[in-house]
Amino acid sequence: MNQVIQVSEKTRKKLIEYYQEKKKDKKIPYVVFQAVDMDTVVTLYESGKVMFQGKSADVDAAMWKEIDGQSMVDPVKVKEQEKKYYFCSSIGSDEVGTGDYFGPIVVTCCYVKKEQISFLESLGIRDSKKISDEKIKKIAPEIAKKIAYKSVILSNQEYNEKYTKDVHMNKIKALLHNRVLYEMMQEKPQIDFIIVDEFAREHRYYAYLEDAPYIQKGITFLTKAEDKNLAVASASIISRYLFLKEMDKLSDSIHIPLPKGAGSEVDQIGEEIVEKYGEEKLKEIAKLNFKNTQKILHTIIY
Ligand code: MN
Repeated sequence: MNQVIQVSEKTRKKLIEYYQEKKKDKKIPYVVFQAVDMDTVVTLYESGKVMFQGKSADVDAAMWKEIDGQSMVDPVKVKEQEKKYYFCSSIGSDEVGTGDYFGPIVVTCCYVKKEQISFLESLGIRDSKKISDEKIKKIAPEIAKKIAYKSVILSNQEYNEKYTKDVHMNKIKALLHNRVLYEMMQEKPQIDFIIVDEFAREHRYYAYLEDAPYIQKGITFLTKAEDKNLAVASASIISRYLFLKEMDKLSDSIHIPLPKGAGSEVDQIGEEIVEKYGEEKLKEIAKLNFKNTQKILHTIIY
Protein backbone atom coordinates (compact mmCIF):
# COMPACT_ATOMS: atom_id res chain seq x y z
CA MET A 1 0.00 0.00 0.00
CA ASN A 2 1.38 3.46 -0.85
CA GLN A 3 1.24 6.41 1.50
CA VAL A 4 2.12 9.96 0.52
CA ILE A 5 2.62 12.76 3.02
CA GLN A 6 3.89 16.31 2.76
CA VAL A 7 6.60 17.33 5.22
CA SER A 8 8.47 20.48 6.21
CA GLU A 9 12.07 21.32 5.34
CA LYS A 10 13.15 20.41 8.86
CA THR A 11 11.49 17.00 8.72
CA ARG A 12 13.06 16.35 5.30
CA LYS A 13 16.50 16.79 6.83
CA LYS A 14 15.63 14.49 9.72
CA LEU A 15 14.28 11.88 7.34
CA ILE A 16 17.41 11.91 5.19
CA GLU A 17 19.54 11.58 8.29
CA TYR A 18 17.39 8.76 9.66
CA TYR A 19 17.55 6.65 6.51
CA GLN A 20 21.11 7.61 5.54
CA GLU A 21 22.51 4.11 5.91
CA LYS A 22 19.74 2.59 3.81
CA LYS A 23 20.15 5.13 1.02
CA LYS A 24 19.84 4.11 -2.66
CA ASP A 25 22.15 5.84 -5.07
CA LYS A 26 19.98 5.53 -8.18
CA LYS A 27 19.17 8.91 -9.80
CA ILE A 28 15.45 9.42 -10.37
CA PRO A 29 13.94 12.64 -11.77
CA TYR A 30 12.42 14.94 -9.12
CA VAL A 31 13.64 12.63 -6.37
CA VAL A 32 15.93 14.10 -3.72
CA PHE A 33 16.47 10.96 -1.72
CA GLN A 34 15.45 7.32 -1.70
CA ALA A 35 16.04 4.55 0.80
CA VAL A 36 14.94 0.98 1.34
CA ASP A 37 14.40 0.15 4.96
CA MET A 38 13.41 -3.45 5.68
CA ASP A 39 10.26 -3.87 3.59
CA THR A 40 9.58 -0.18 3.00
CA VAL A 41 10.74 2.04 0.15
CA VAL A 42 10.94 5.69 1.17
CA THR A 43 11.09 8.32 -1.57
CA LEU A 44 11.49 12.04 -0.92
CA TYR A 45 10.55 14.35 -3.80
CA GLU A 46 11.77 17.88 -4.52
CA SER A 47 8.24 19.07 -3.74
CA GLY A 48 8.58 17.92 -0.12
CA LYS A 49 6.26 14.96 -0.62
CA VAL A 50 7.36 11.65 0.81
CA MET A 51 6.09 8.36 -0.53
CA PHE A 52 6.20 5.17 1.52
CA GLN A 53 5.72 1.90 -0.32
CA GLY A 54 5.48 -1.56 1.16
CA LYS A 55 3.88 -3.60 3.90
CA SER A 56 4.49 -1.18 6.75
CA ALA A 57 4.11 2.01 4.68
CA ASP A 58 1.21 3.19 6.84
CA VAL A 59 3.21 2.78 10.06
CA ASP A 60 6.19 4.67 8.67
CA ALA A 61 4.03 7.42 7.19
CA ALA A 62 2.25 7.83 10.53
CA MET A 63 5.57 8.12 12.36
CA TRP A 64 6.85 10.85 10.03
CA LYS A 65 3.55 12.67 10.17
CA GLU A 66 3.91 12.79 13.91
CA ILE A 67 7.55 13.91 13.74
CA ASP A 68 6.42 16.64 11.38
CA GLY A 69 3.93 17.81 13.98
CA GLN A 70 0.90 16.95 11.92
CA SER A 71 -0.53 14.41 14.27
CA MET A 72 -3.91 15.12 15.74
CA VAL A 73 -3.04 13.71 19.14
CA ASP A 74 -4.95 15.16 21.99
CA PRO A 75 -2.60 15.77 24.95
CA VAL A 76 -5.37 14.88 27.42
CA LYS A 77 -5.85 11.53 25.71
CA VAL A 78 -2.12 10.93 25.77
CA LYS A 79 -2.09 11.50 29.56
CA GLU A 80 -4.98 9.06 29.98
CA GLN A 81 -3.18 6.46 27.90
CA GLU A 82 -0.10 6.88 30.05
CA LYS A 83 -2.04 6.47 33.27
CA LYS A 84 -3.32 3.20 31.90
CA TYR A 85 0.23 1.89 31.61
CA TYR A 86 1.13 3.12 35.08
CA PHE A 87 -1.78 1.91 37.21
CA CYS A 88 -1.84 -1.66 36.02
CA SER A 89 -0.35 -5.10 36.53
CA SER A 90 2.40 -5.52 34.02
CA ILE A 91 5.61 -7.08 32.88
CA GLY A 92 8.21 -4.61 31.73
CA SER A 93 11.74 -4.99 30.44
CA ASP A 94 14.77 -2.79 30.01
CA GLU A 95 18.44 -3.22 29.22
CA VAL A 96 21.74 -1.75 30.37
CA GLY A 97 25.28 -1.80 29.01
CA THR A 98 24.56 -1.32 25.34
CA GLY A 99 26.28 2.07 25.30
CA ASP A 100 29.19 0.98 27.46
CA TYR A 101 32.41 -0.26 25.87
CA PHE A 102 33.38 -2.25 28.94
CA GLY A 103 31.11 -4.76 30.62
CA PRO A 104 28.22 -7.01 29.70
CA ILE A 105 24.74 -6.35 28.41
CA VAL A 106 22.08 -6.98 31.02
CA VAL A 107 18.40 -7.33 30.21
CA THR A 108 15.80 -7.72 32.93
CA CYS A 109 12.05 -7.99 33.03
CA CYS A 110 9.96 -7.46 36.13
CA TYR A 111 6.44 -8.53 36.96
CA VAL A 112 4.75 -5.79 38.97
CA LYS A 113 1.27 -6.34 40.34
CA LYS A 114 -1.02 -3.38 40.73
CA GLU A 115 -0.92 -3.83 44.53
CA GLN A 116 2.88 -3.43 44.49
CA ILE A 117 2.87 0.01 42.90
CA SER A 118 2.75 1.89 46.22
CA PHE A 119 5.68 -0.15 47.55
CA LEU A 120 7.75 0.79 44.51
CA GLU A 121 6.70 4.41 44.77
CA SER A 122 7.85 4.43 48.41
CA LEU A 123 11.36 3.50 47.19
CA GLY A 124 11.33 6.53 44.92
CA ILE A 125 12.05 4.63 41.75
CA ARG A 126 10.49 6.97 39.24
CA ASP A 127 13.14 8.65 37.12
CA SER A 128 15.29 5.55 37.39
CA LYS A 129 17.82 7.06 34.97
CA LYS A 130 18.65 9.83 37.43
CA ILE A 131 19.25 7.55 40.42
CA SER A 132 22.88 7.42 41.55
CA ASP A 133 24.86 4.17 41.50
CA GLU A 134 24.95 4.19 45.31
CA LYS A 135 21.20 4.36 45.52
CA ILE A 136 20.85 1.64 42.88
CA LYS A 137 22.99 -0.62 45.07
CA LYS A 138 20.66 0.06 47.99
CA ILE A 139 17.26 -0.21 46.40
CA ALA A 140 17.76 -2.94 43.79
CA PRO A 141 18.03 -5.68 46.45
CA GLU A 142 14.84 -4.30 48.06
CA ILE A 143 13.02 -4.56 44.76
CA ALA A 144 14.40 -8.01 44.03
CA LYS A 145 13.07 -9.25 47.39
CA LYS A 146 9.48 -8.43 46.54
CA ILE A 147 9.19 -8.22 42.79
CA ALA A 148 9.47 -11.21 40.47
CA TYR A 149 12.14 -10.74 37.83
CA LYS A 150 14.18 -12.54 35.18
CA SER A 151 17.58 -11.32 34.05
CA VAL A 152 20.06 -12.34 31.44
CA ILE A 153 23.68 -11.23 31.44
CA LEU A 154 25.46 -11.46 28.11
CA SER A 155 29.20 -11.55 28.80
CA ASN A 156 31.63 -9.69 26.55
CA GLN A 157 32.99 -12.97 25.27
CA GLU A 158 29.53 -14.14 24.21
CA TYR A 159 28.74 -10.74 22.75
CA ASN A 160 31.91 -10.69 20.69
CA GLU A 161 31.24 -14.18 19.37
CA LYS A 162 27.66 -13.30 18.47
CA TYR A 163 28.18 -9.88 16.98
CA THR A 164 28.37 -9.87 13.18
CA LYS A 165 27.07 -7.71 10.37
CA ASP A 166 23.77 -9.57 10.52
CA VAL A 167 23.60 -9.95 14.26
CA HIS A 168 24.03 -6.37 15.41
CA MET A 169 23.28 -4.63 18.68
CA ASN A 170 19.54 -4.18 18.14
CA LYS A 171 19.08 -7.79 17.15
CA ILE A 172 20.99 -8.93 20.22
CA LYS A 173 18.80 -6.70 22.38
CA ALA A 174 15.62 -8.07 20.79
CA LEU A 175 16.72 -11.66 21.38
CA LEU A 176 17.52 -10.97 25.03
CA HIS A 177 14.28 -9.08 25.72
CA ASN A 178 12.34 -11.85 24.01
CA ARG A 179 14.06 -14.43 26.17
CA VAL A 180 13.32 -12.88 29.57
CA LEU A 181 9.77 -11.92 28.62
CA TYR A 182 8.99 -15.36 27.31
CA GLU A 183 10.42 -17.01 30.41
CA MET A 184 8.37 -14.76 32.66
CA MET A 185 5.20 -15.43 30.71
CA GLN A 186 5.64 -19.17 31.25
CA GLU A 187 4.74 -18.51 34.89
CA LYS A 188 1.30 -17.30 33.82
CA PRO A 189 1.34 -13.87 35.45
CA GLN A 190 -1.91 -11.96 35.69
CA ILE A 191 -1.14 -8.88 33.63
CA ASP A 192 -2.73 -6.11 31.64
CA PHE A 193 0.34 -5.28 29.57
CA ILE A 194 3.77 -6.43 28.52
CA ILE A 195 5.83 -3.28 28.08
CA VAL A 196 9.22 -2.86 26.48
CA ASP A 197 11.21 0.35 26.52
CA GLU A 198 11.27 0.92 22.79
CA PHE A 199 14.64 0.60 21.07
CA ALA A 200 13.33 -0.50 17.69
CA ARG A 201 10.06 -0.10 15.87
CA GLU A 202 7.63 -2.94 16.49
CA HIS A 203 7.84 -4.57 13.06
CA ARG A 204 11.58 -4.49 13.19
CA TYR A 205 11.70 -5.92 16.69
CA TYR A 206 9.77 -8.96 15.51
CA ALA A 207 11.84 -9.19 12.33
CA TYR A 208 14.94 -9.52 14.54
CA LEU A 209 13.33 -12.54 16.18
CA GLU A 210 12.78 -14.30 12.87
CA ASP A 211 14.80 -17.35 13.82
CA ALA A 212 14.26 -17.34 17.57
CA PRO A 213 12.93 -20.67 18.88
CA TYR A 214 9.98 -18.94 20.56
CA ILE A 215 8.54 -15.47 20.26
CA GLN A 216 6.75 -13.47 22.95
CA LYS A 217 3.97 -11.58 21.23
CA GLY A 218 1.55 -8.96 22.50
CA ILE A 219 4.13 -6.36 23.53
CA THR A 220 3.39 -2.67 23.93
CA PHE A 221 6.43 -0.61 22.95
CA LEU A 222 6.71 2.73 24.72
CA THR A 223 9.35 5.40 24.46
CA LYS A 224 10.75 6.50 27.84
CA ALA A 225 8.86 3.54 29.25
CA GLU A 226 10.82 3.66 32.51
CA ASP A 227 8.99 6.90 33.32
CA LYS A 228 5.57 5.51 32.39
CA ASN A 229 5.57 2.04 33.88
CA LEU A 230 7.03 0.78 37.15
CA ALA A 231 7.80 -2.71 35.86
CA VAL A 232 10.11 -1.15 33.28
CA ALA A 233 11.55 1.21 35.91
CA SER A 234 12.22 -1.76 38.23
CA ALA A 235 13.74 -3.74 35.36
CA SER A 236 15.99 -0.83 34.56
CA ILE A 237 17.18 -0.65 38.19
CA ILE A 238 17.84 -4.37 38.51
CA SER A 239 19.68 -4.36 35.19
CA ARG A 240 21.83 -1.47 36.35
CA TYR A 241 22.52 -3.21 39.63
CA LEU A 242 23.67 -6.40 37.91
CA PHE A 243 25.72 -4.38 35.45
CA LEU A 244 27.48 -2.52 38.28
CA LYS A 245 28.22 -5.83 40.03
CA GLU A 246 29.71 -7.29 36.85
CA MET A 247 31.78 -4.16 36.28
CA ASP A 248 33.12 -4.43 39.84
CA LYS A 249 34.07 -8.06 39.22
CA LEU A 250 35.81 -7.26 35.93
CA SER A 251 37.62 -4.29 37.49
CA ASP A 252 38.83 -6.47 40.38
CA SER A 253 40.03 -9.17 38.03
CA ILE A 254 42.35 -6.78 36.17
CA HIS A 255 43.08 -4.45 39.11
CA ILE A 256 42.00 -1.46 37.05
CA PRO A 257 38.70 0.34 37.70
CA LEU A 258 36.67 0.24 34.48
CA PRO A 259 34.83 3.39 33.45
CA LYS A 260 31.33 3.35 32.00
CA GLY A 261 30.36 4.80 28.63
CA ALA A 262 32.48 4.98 25.51
CA GLY A 263 34.37 8.26 25.82
CA SER A 264 38.04 9.20 25.90
CA GLU A 265 38.55 7.96 29.45
CA VAL A 266 37.52 4.54 28.18
CA ASP A 267 40.17 4.73 25.44
CA GLN A 268 42.84 5.64 27.98
CA ILE A 269 41.99 2.78 30.30
CA GLY A 270 41.77 0.50 27.26
CA GLU A 271 45.34 1.34 26.32
CA GLU A 272 46.48 0.69 29.86
CA ILE A 273 44.82 -2.72 29.81
CA VAL A 274 46.34 -3.68 26.45
CA GLU A 275 49.77 -2.62 27.64
CA LYS A 276 49.43 -4.68 30.78
CA TYR A 277 47.58 -7.76 29.51
CA GLY A 278 47.73 -7.68 25.70
CA GLU A 279 45.07 -7.17 23.06
CA GLU A 280 43.38 -10.48 23.80
CA LYS A 281 42.16 -9.18 27.13
CA LEU A 282 39.75 -6.80 25.40
CA LYS A 283 37.74 -9.78 24.16
CA GLU A 284 36.86 -10.68 27.72
CA ILE A 285 35.96 -7.25 29.02
CA ALA A 286 34.92 -5.03 26.09
CA LYS A 287 32.56 -4.84 23.11
CA LEU A 288 35.02 -5.12 20.26
CA ASN A 289 32.78 -3.69 17.54
CA PHE A 290 32.78 -0.26 19.23
CA LYS A 291 35.01 2.39 17.63
CA ASN A 292 37.01 2.50 20.87
CA THR A 293 38.82 -0.70 19.85
CA GLN A 294 40.35 0.99 16.81
CA LYS A 295 41.34 4.00 18.85
CA ILE A 296 42.91 1.90 21.58
CA LEU A 297 44.88 -0.33 19.23
CA HIS A 298 46.04 2.46 16.91
CA THR A 299 47.53 4.64 19.59
CA ILE A 300 49.71 1.97 21.11
CA ILE A 301 53.35 2.08 20.11
CA TYR A 302 55.07 -1.25 20.37
MN1 MN B 1 15.94 1.44 27.83
